[in-house]
This record gives sequence, structure tokens and C-alpha cells, in this order.
Amino acid sequence: MDDDDSRLLERRSRYIENLVASEPAIARQFVWDDQELITLDHEAADPLMEDEHMAVRGLVHKYPNRALLLLTAQCATYCRFCTRKRMVSHVERGRIRKPDVDEWKRYLTEHPEIRDAILSGGDPLFVSTELFSYVIETLSSIESLKVVRIGTRVPVTDPLLVTDEKIEILKRLPQTLYIGLNFEHPAEITPEVREAVEKLKTTGGQLYSQSVFLKGVNDDYETLYELFTTLYEIGVRPYYIYRCDPVEGVSHFRADFEKEREIMTRLRSTLSGLACPTYVIDTPFGSGKIPVPLKYWDCDAEEYLDFQGVRHRRI
Ligand code: SF4
Repeated sequence: MDDDDSRLLERRSRYIENLVASEPAIARQFVWDDQELITLDHEAADPLMEDEHMAVRGLVHKYPNRALLLLTAQCATYCRFCTRKRMVSHVERGRIRKPDVDEWKRYLTEHPEIRDAILSGGDPLFVSTELFSYVIETLSSIESLKVVRIGTRVPVTDPLLVTDEKIEILKRLPQTLYIGLNFEHPAEITPEVREAVEKLKTTGGQLYSQSVFLKGVNDDYETLYELFTTLYEIGVRPYYIYRCDPVEGVSHFRADFEKEREIMTRLRSTLSGLACPTYVIDTPFGSGKIPVPLKYWDCDAEEYLDFQGVRHRRI
């Protein structure tokens, strides 16, 4: 397969196939749609400009105190709305080997201002136990690093890959551990997923969720109320819900902005504060996540300033 068509590749775990067959909201997330061939003017392959901030192979250094570590380009199941569509499934281009991890250590040691490392990908829980163990052991040895985060969708897309071996490896990490899980719809919280969440809790890490507003999947109040309430109840703290990034080929997932604001305003008034995530827009050019004002304030929500003070028209 050449580089250009990798974003079109489908992969689904056997586990998710069963959910796809029974839940239209799950099928929409994981099954190819011809609308993916549509690219709008304002869309980009890499709207957050991660590639430009790649300091060494697989290490993105965009914010002074944090580093993103892209451990693999593979996932158990490919989400059709993925922000990293440009790179997921590029197995060889995204492959990280032990010498690359040694380079991460060199870079992180030379940059002690980086106190927070975020393991992502692709899906970091999809790699071999051997590589996973090597990475965690390496990060454990970096004194300036105070926090390790893991961003994964494996507990949702193939929960059996949350293995006892990987749990034991994570228990050895001396730094504070946060585990970020992507959930989009309450039907994803099956008995298998609950079991995976319980296992992850035994690592001592704090569990939080990230979600994306997705048209036809979760752009209604009832669905998100149930999702965030259930996450809260199983011990996964809802953290962020994103406006869908302007990635090439995902415009059919982008919901109506005013509708999203209405939903979040209503949720803020009915959910416990701990169960209500912050609604954000990840700014173009990758300067950060800007909270969207809810309808408790009168303001112009058509434009906003990013963290550098640059004004953006909302997409
Ligand atoms: S699991 Fe994450 S990285 Fe993989 S396709 Fe889904 S959103 Fe993208």
C-alpha cells in the first residue's frame, strides 16, 4: 500500500465487529464511508501540526513542559474520524524500536523542563509486551519526569489486549500515572470494557476520558448524559470533549457548533461537576485547547484567541 491511501485502510478487532453489527452508533465510528473522500478547503492532514514539532523520531515537543511519545502507528481498530489519520496504519513509518526509545531518553534528559510524557500513537497498548516494558522501564529511569500519561482506546476497541503483563509493568512505574481513555458512546461500556477498566485501576493510575463530538454518534443530550454519567460511576473522570478537528475526510462527522454548545450548556446544569468534561476546540496550528464558552455568558463565539493571542475564526 502506498502512503497516500493508508488513511483509507479499515481494521476492526473481532470484539468490535460484534458491536458494529448490533449498534449503528458504533458502526458509524469504524466502518468506511465514501464521504471520507471529501476534503474541504479548511481541512488539513495534520491540523495540529504535530509533524512539525517532531524533535526526534516519535517524540513531539510542542508545549515546553510536555512531550508526546508516538509509540506505534497501529491500533486495534481504526476510528474513521481519527485526528492522526495521516499516520495511523503506516506500520513501518511509525515503528519505534529500542534505539528510538533510547533517543527519547537522551532528549528528555537534556530537556528537564519536560515533566510530563504522554504515550500515544496509534495505540500504545497495542505494542508488544517487550517493547512496552522497555519504554516504561526507560521512562521510570528519567528523574526529571514527574508524570506519565497513556492515551489509549484499546480498552474500548479490544479490551482483551489489556493484559495482566502490561498491568504489572505499569504498576512498577514510580511516576504519577494518568490513563486517558477515548469513549464516544455509552454502548461502548460493555461488561468486557468494565473489566478492563477495573484492571487499569489496579495500576494506581488515575483514569480519565476524552471524547469527540461526532455527528450521528453522540451529538445529542441523552447520549452524552448517559455516557458521562456511566463513566463517572465506573471511575473514569470525564475530562475533555473536543469539537471534531478539521482533518481531511472527516467533515461528515463534524456536528453543528451551536447544537454542541446547547448540549454542553444543558449537561453542565444537570451533571455533577465531576462528571462534566470541558468542551474544547483544539486550535489550528497546534497552539492548544481553547475552552468553548457555554451559553451562560453573552459573547461572540464565532472567533476566539489562542494561547499565543492569535485570533481564529471558529470552524
Ligand atoms: S484508536 Fe486513537 S489513534 Fe487509533 S484510530 Fe482511533 S483515534 Fe486514531
